[in-house]
Amino acid sequence: MKKNDCIFCKIAAGEIPSSTIYEDEDVRVILDLGPASQGHALILPKEHYDDVCSLDQTLAAKLLPLAARIGQAMKKGLGCAGFNLVQNNGKAAGQTVFHFHMHVIPRYENGPEMVAWEPCKPTAEELAKTAERIRGAL
Ligand code: 5GP
Ligand code: ZN
Repeated sequence: MKKNDCIFCKIAAGEIPSSTIYEDEDVRVILDLGPASQGHALILPKEHYDDVCSLDQTLAAKLLPLAARIGQAMKKGLGCAGFNLVQNNGKAAGQTVFHFHMHVIPRYENGPEMVAWEPCKPTAEELAKTAERIRGAL
């Protein structure tokens, strides 16, 4: 299903132009308009899914190998030294466009630097309790 007011539905369908680097029947991969580094790409399903929780499982299985392929092409084509796969779910997690997408972000030896999180220092007891809360909700 497409969603009427969704910009990524329109981009994925080719109704709004984008710098496309890959397309097939299920996905379009485009360059991000506000890249974190040169070549920052977004993998967009052509169908609308709000986030990873509603993603079709068959499609989901296709996305990680595709992300790896795009990352390899970035290494070969752009000379990046590595790449990050980033996928935000929910406003609190930084999601701003509520059509599932996966970021493929090239990382170069000479930067740019990107913000990493500050590691917390949980006790073994805290880790055990946290793990139990998630296990209990699976
Ligand atoms: P999110 O924060 O939701 O994980 O990522 C949304 C990303 O989409 C951002 O990196 C933003 O720069 C990018 N973006 C938003 N609107 C457009 C657009 O119209 N075209 C393209 N190519 N990228 C967009
Ligand atoms: Zn959409």
